[in-house]
Amino acid sequence: MAVDYGARSKLSAALRGLMGCCPACGRGRLLKSYLKPVDQCAHCGEAFGHFRADDAPPWMTILVVGHIVIPMLLSVEQRYQPAAWVHFAIWPALTLLLTMLLLPRCKGVVLGLLWSTGAPGSERA
Ligand SMILES: [Zn+2]
Repeated sequence: MAVDYGARSKLSAALRGLMGCCPACGRGRLLKSYLKPVDQCAHCGEAFGHFRADDAPPWMTILVVGHIVIPMLLSVEQRYQPAAWVHFAIWPALTLLLTMLLLPRCKGVVLGLLWSTGAPGSERA
């Protein structure tokens, strides 16, 4: 049974989602695997399985990772002008690492925001 939380704070829901926690109570887990949302919170019972974040988490991840990696790449190139193999060794690995770290957090933010708006979700019967 889901608890009525009244007015839902978007900032609080987004921050809880960022931490991988239930946007409603902040105690239960939001994702049961890397990107799969739990059907409902184990602590408060709030349902999340019907939300579909679609392309928003990858879009947000690309936006953030791109704004981290590209300025670093250009700065290193301007200051040190390393050989091309150095660039090929560093930037794809850093991009992959940041993407793997940020993608579930971005999904949590999107799910938290969806929940905070009271969106009905696309999978609910
Ligand atoms: Zn909860």
